[in-house]
Amino acid sequence: MTKNNSADDSAVYKGYKGTALARLKELGVRVWSDVEITTEKGNFKGVILPRSESADDLHIVLKMHNGYNIGILADSIRTAKEIGYKEAHYKIPEQEFPRDPEKPEVTLLGTGGTIASRLDYRTGAVIPAFTPGELYGAVPELADICNLDTKKLFGIFSENMGPEQWITLAKAIGVEIEKGVSGIVIGHGTDTMHHTAAALSFMVQKTPVPIVMVGSQRSSDRPSSDAAFNLRCAVWTAAHSDLAEVTVCMFGPTSDKYNLLHQGTRVRKMHSSYRSTFRTIGDVPLAMVEPGKMTPIRSDYNRRRPDKSATIDPSFDDRVAIVYYYPNMKPDIIESLVDNGYKGIVIAGTGLGHVNKPLYEPLRKAVEAGAHVYMTVQTLWGYVQMFVYDTGRDLMDLGVVPAANMLPEVAYVKLGWALGHTHDREKVKEMMLTPIANEITEREPFDGYLIMQGGVPEVEEFIGKLKL
Ligand code: ASP
Repeated sequence: MTKNNSADDSAVYKGYKGTALARLKELGVRVWSDVEITTEKGNFKGVILPRSESADDLHIVLKMHNGYNIGILADSIRTAKEIGYKEAHYKIPEQEFPRDPEKPEVTLLGTGGTIASRLDYRTGAVIPAFTPGELYGAVPELADICNLDTKKLFGIFSENMGPEQWITLAKAIGVEIEKGVSGIVIGHGTDTMHHTAAALSFMVQKTPVPIVMVGSQRSSDRPSSDAAFNLRCAVWTAAHSDLAEVTVCMFGPTSDKYNLLHQGTRVRKMHSSYRSTFRTIGDVPLAMVEPGKMTPIRSDYNRRRPDKSATIDPSFDDRVAIVYYYPNMKPDIIESLVDNGYKGIVIAGTGLGHVNKPLYEPLRKAVEAGAHVYMTVQTLWGYVQMFVYDTGRDLMDLGVVPAANMLPEVAYVKLGWALGHTHDREKVKEMMLTPIANEITEREPFDGYLIMQGGVPEVEEFIGKLKL
């Protein structure tokens, strides 16, 4: 029989009701207690979390010691033993940053994502809830690095970032540069960090100071969180490095030995869950960084300048799409884009840049209707090369423009940005094919590609030679 929570129940059993509440009472264990549970399906250790609003009445939510949450069917629990009790307070107080006139000024612009998140026990989900001030409360080492000013621009997961937010961000960066800060850090969800990094690379050109994007793959309530280390590396880079570019600063290896600084137009999230998820594609990263030290890997980066000027150029026409080609793609995919008024199409083609023959006619019509069509490669590494096969030549004859070794997402962002300025075919082409921030490079280094394939003897030998 279910019973309504009494005042006492609600304090001890935080949200549990029905079967789950009855079972917790029977077992004599409380919410926030560290328990050893035996069930029909196995044994588990962890902390009983408050029940989230969206959970059913049949399960108990356990935060295991590895940081993952699981639901256990209350009726399947045979025994439960409390081995500890620790009520968590996930609200970290906002703390005022201690100021030291000797230290450089850095501004952290928060947009959201896991780095700005804590576990929300109302819904059981990770929600964007940290303000940047709370972030400092959680990582006090930041005060050893600089004077940090924090501004929360948005509190969203990065799948909700788009041109509107990129523009707001670019303008906010412009304001900070004009104010004369030594560097800017952008807290951002990792999922689309590379899109925003590309957008900022075009919207904020010739920056005199580092603009460093940072996120975390694991939220700060988890023991394996990368949030604090990433933040310390990024804030140090912004405050002290001489690297005046838009970069992404995230875990290099699988441990917190050092972070890599990736150029904003050459970086991509490559793993859905690893902390070392970001990789430079088509090149090698700019540098390795630890809190307190940067070791350049490349020397061709833009250096910090004492002036306060940058070219802030925030415009975007969002009638642009990426079409990821797959075998048997039908013409109506292209036709529907044109019918819906899309003005730019970036194709991620097979191999050197191909699509099947049935798409030729709709692509020709798309170009005729005024659309700007660019070809990139699904392989990510390497260049579009449309002179090798006659099919490539045919596509170029239809008006499809090869975009060299621009990554598909980068070409998408750049095309939207270019179309925000002009729709003149030649001008758009000139903008697209003139590199601004290494989005097109003259060559791709062999060692950059190799590093993607650890485990292969030749690669192990190569990695062994690196003095990291
Ligand atoms: N979904 C999150 C986001 O991109 C993941 C993260 O922050 O790492 O906002």
